[in-house]
Amino acid sequence: MDSLARPFASIMALVNFLLDVRGLSVELATATGRVRPVDEACFRVGAGEAVGLVGESGSGKTMLGLGLVGLVPPGARRGGEAWLAGRDGAPPVNLVAEGERGLEAIRGREIGMVFQEPMTALNPVMRVGAQVREALCIHEPGLGAAELGRRTLAALERAAVSDPPARERQYPHELSGGLRQRAMIAMALAAGPRLLVADEPTTALDVTVQKQILELLGRLRQESHLALLFISHDLPVVTQLAEQLLVMYAGRIVEQGPAREVLERPAHPYTAALLEAVPRKGATPAVLAGNVPRLDALPPGCAFAPRCRYRRPECSLARPEPRRVGPEHYARCILVP
Ligand code: SF4
Repeated sequence: MDSLARPFASIMALVNFLLDVRGLSVELATATGRVRPVDEACFRVGAGEAVGLVGESGSGKTMLGLGLVGLVPPGARRGGEAWLAGRDGAPPVNLVAEGERGLEAIRGREIGMVFQEPMTALNPVMRVGAQVREALCIHEPGLGAAELGRRTLAALERAAVSDPPARERQYPHELSGGLRQRAMIAMALAAGPRLLVADEPTTALDVTVQKQILELLGRLRQESHLALLFISHDLPVVTQLAEQLLVMYAGRIVEQGPAREVLERPAHPYTAALLEAVPRKGATPAVLAGNVPRLDALPPGCAFAPRCRYRRPECSLARPEPRRVGPEHYARCILVP
């Protein structure tokens, strides 16, 4: 962990967490040099806790989720540490140091993944039931056919897939968007992971189905003490589930803390701007002008400076270190005293 990552780790209370991420970075090689779509992320997820990760497109949210489980592009380098607590008293595992075989055993069994568009994640030429069975077989190869069939139906039922015996014989393209997402959730949870990384799981769905999927995730959390890392560009959606909030900009977590506190008293101008852009009854949402900068053309100092209405000359001198706003609330902004 380098010097910029240390402040978060050192000033936060040492508590036992399911996931303890310390300075996670993902570095990619580009034609113009190496860039960091994830730059020294530090956060923790407690058992059964829901953590929301928000930011505009291009802020690095998806790469952070993928970086945790090693699903990064060829040639990408991961750095830092991401400690996953051991199951049943086993020692913790550093996901960054783990090799591909170790990560394969962790993906699905310990950490499930759900993506925005299930059509790209589900195999279009395999029946839904066969895909859930496959997810089970990878982690429990000794299961007999009858038990596999029973567990497949149970996984679909748990994800509120209607009529599981019929659905398991269907192909993904025969299902509606909402049912496909439920099938994806069934697959992701089939092997009983303790953490679900859900990346924009409701973005492609209409509002009614979106609400149903959010309710489903909330119920699954309660039933299984499942922890959730919920990634979305949509702040109102994230706040329906999240207890803790991470706000990401240009590869860095710029604000983090208890969701209610961050929403009521945002300390980073970017978080405040995201909140002002949320449509509200009887009010015109403010538009945040400009775009997330290209990673190979980051401005000096604070990456948000070109869009920040509070910027001062000193904002461009150095990248802001995390500053404490409250007991568990931090922001990378020089305005925080
Ligand atoms: S450090 Fe400066 S430019 Fe960056 S968010 Fe804070 S006030 Fe704005």
